[in-house]
Amino acid sequence: MFRLVAVNTTDDIFADYRDTPVGLLLEYNNLNREHETYTQAQLLIGMCMDNRKHLHTPDNFAYIIRAGGANLRYSEFKVSYAIAVGGVKCIALIGHNQCGMVNLMARREAFINGLVENAGWDKELAEQHFMNFAPMFEIGNEIDFVLSETQRLRSRYPKIQVAPLLYKVEDNLLYQIKE
Ligand SMILES: [Zn+2]
Repeated sequence: MFRLVAVNTTDDIFADYRDTPVGLLLEYNNLNREHETYTQAQLLIGMCMDNRKHLHTPDNFAYIIRAGGANLRYSEFKVSYAIAVGGVKCIALIGHNQCGMVNLMARREAFINGLVENAGWDKELAEQHFMNFAPMFEIGNEIDFVLSETQRLRSRYPKIQVAPLLYKVEDNLLYQIKE
């Protein structure tokens, strides 16, 4: 966790993020900045689907794409839409600790049995489903994944600022990731 930088005051915010929507996001979520009124989205937030997370942001502030592990590889059209039509110029990519997309293989049995019992799937189909898709959604390590996904998004959308962040489920705060 030595790569994480907390935001306890506005002075902690990285120079690159100051006076940008990413800096505002950090102030709203961590520093209880008073909510301004927005009529247009200021940024795109990519974050995990995990139920333990809730960001404190003003109305209309951000597009949000939620996908397991904050993995936007399979949400590209939506990312493009937020940039092209929504006019956002930056992306906050937010991973989190204790992410279920880390070490998916360890949850193979739970996944298969859960689909059979909770959804009424045939066991063989559930096994195939897991084996086909788990490798696409496995993220390895939360911080390393967010950094690699940040690089991918920067090369795909060169004029867009992409900020890698981490959300800690214990304190509901955002942390900057040192690159
Ligand atoms: Zn997660």
